[in-house]
Amino acid sequence: MTAPSLPRAGLPAPLTLHFCSHCGSPRLDFRVPDGDSLPRYVCADCGSIHYQNPKVVVGCLPVWDDGRILLCKRAIEPRLGLWTLPAGFLENGESVIAGAVRETVEEAGARVEVQDLHTLISLPPIHQVYMMFRAQLLDLDFGPGPESLEVRLFDEADVPWDALAFRTIVRTLRNFFLDRKRGATGPHLSSIERRPPLPPDLRGAA
Ligand SMILES: [Zn+2]
Repeated sequence: MTAPSLPRAGLPAPLTLHFCSHCGSPRLDFRVPDGDSLPRYVCADCGSIHYQNPKVVVGCLPVWDDGRILLCKRAIEPRLGLWTLPAGFLENGESVIAGAVRETVEEAGARVEVQDLHTLISLPPIHQVYMMFRAQLLDLDFGPGPESLEVRLFDEADVPWDALAFRTIVRTLRNFFLDRKRGATGPHLSSIERRPPLPPDLRGAA
């Protein structure tokens, strides 16, 4: 197997593959297939080309009648103990809205009606796309699922900005509160092109 190199300046390397998932062969070449423009893992035995594409994360920004928003405290790594909006990876065969509603039920035990796409963020360094939907919380009968320690409604003034789990969530919430002040709506399209710097206590350990 040839070692993967960066396919193009600025593009992250793909995940390393050790076996062909089609025939089980360990003989994988990392090369540009005929007619393609980027290197891929290509099986030397069966010819299968193993494409790698970004994953989609879908979630909701649930809003109650009084304007408070619902956040979940994470019970799992990464960012255990920090607050987030209910969101997770889209499943195969699932629409983005169905996925956002499902994640909201799973993580917050909350029922919502999706209103519109609010914030879409591309994250090229980690091969993800975030799609966050503004949603009406339908009742106050919610509670933490297995991936959450706590689920709470927050006024804008009480949002724990220093204890939010991800930059995507910070950006989504900032967009939401700015919109509310201006009487505007999304969608807000953006990207985050760099990985966050490591915290001081992890520098040198990585
Ligand atoms: Zn193969």
